[in-house]
Amino acid sequence: MLYSIREQTSRTILSRTSGFLLEAGFTHSLSPARNCTFGCSYCYVPTMRVQAGLQKDDWDHWGHHTTFKTNAALLLARELRPHQTIYCSPLTDPYQPAEAGQQLMPAILQAVAAAPPQAFVLQTRGPLILRDLPLLAAIPRLRISFSLTTDDDAVRHRFEPHCASIPQRLETIRLLRAAGLRVHATLAPLLPCDPARLAALALEATDQPLIADPLHLRANKTHGATTRPPALQLLTRYPHFDPTAALTIIEAAATRADRRFGTGPSAFGWLAAP
Ligand code: SF4
Repeated sequence: MLYSIREQTSRTILSRTSGFLLEAGFTHSLSPARNCTFGCSYCYVPTMRVQAGLQKDDWDHWGHHTTFKTNAALLLARELRPHQTIYCSPLTDPYQPAEAGQQLMPAILQAVAAAPPQAFVLQTRGPLILRDLPLLAAIPRLRISFSLTTDDDAVRHRFEPHCASIPQRLETIRLLRAAGLRVHATLAPLLPCDPARLAALALEATDQPLIADPLHLRANKTHGATTRPPALQLLTRYPHFDPTAALTIIEAAATRADRRFGTGPSAFGWLAAP
């Protein structure tokens, strides 16, 4: 996708959490940019509109541009405290395509390494994270939550065409682990898949508890952030996919492998735990 990059300075960089992240145990979130050039069809963020700090141009053209907070690292150096548990990011992917040119994350990681919080979580699906391996390795109590949404790359291509393929993501997880980093496979949002195969791939790729979450639909979540219409339209191609049954199969596979499995804030809380 063609996208444009914008820049702005911010007044603060860490936001106090509420709702899902607060319940999970995170004290703060860090979003290095507004809008995300992965532009996933289902992304909940634009449905939150001003609540997510967005402007109309963001939710009207999600994924078409992103606005980097160019003073993020400077602000972070001022705002970091040892007791914080930080989730980066609920509103954009820190390794979105535009980060390749912007290179905001290295300075952010250096700031975190210089004043490490109680926990620092990177939520991403971008193999670009491998660019920063030496900086990541310098951060104590770093957790990487790597999104693995399906085992089927055709499904991935339909729902998130600008994201890396499933084989690329598995290879990225392998390389992060080989560098000694703690990596969780996060099956969220769970897209149509062969749940037994997805569970096997995730269990083989990681040695951490499995975290999952179904797509947020009005049927299972009556208010707040929700799946966008383009993804709802795509879902109609998979009438036989039953997310509840899929989660049951994945849980059974994790149990057989003697691995914890969970969904929702309690499972995401494993990332925040000391
Ligand atoms: S990577 Fe995450 S934040 Fe970015 S568009 Fe996809 S779901 Fe939204």
